Amino acid sequence: MLIPCFACESRFHPDEYFRACHDYHRGKDLVAWTCPRCGNQDELRVFPGELGFGYARRGRFDVSDRVRVPGLRRRRQDLRLDISLDEDVWRVSTRTRQLVGAH
Ligand SMILES: [Zn+2]
Repeated sequence: MLIPCFACESRFHPDEYFRACHDYHRGKDLVAWTCPRCGNQDELRVFPGELGFGYARRGRFDVSDRVRVPGLRRRRQDLRLDISLDEDVWRVSTRTRQLVGAH
């Protein structure tokens, strides 16, 4: 099972893909991802069993593309999102620059 970059169409094994995730935005429930191949930055939402890609619009995130990742699980922690698949867990820390009270 491989996960694509929508910019350069490279495909990644889950471990390589999720290690490139960074900056979990708790308010928006989005994870930032930077492609190790082309450097494109994307935002995505982790769902149980799939990843959601789309566009931020008027303060909300509209999912337009979904990539199925069977067995994918997520758990929100205080300052991070834990993404797990089978025996592996990737911890994505919350952005430290988040503005308190901003909407
Ligand atoms: Zn790419």
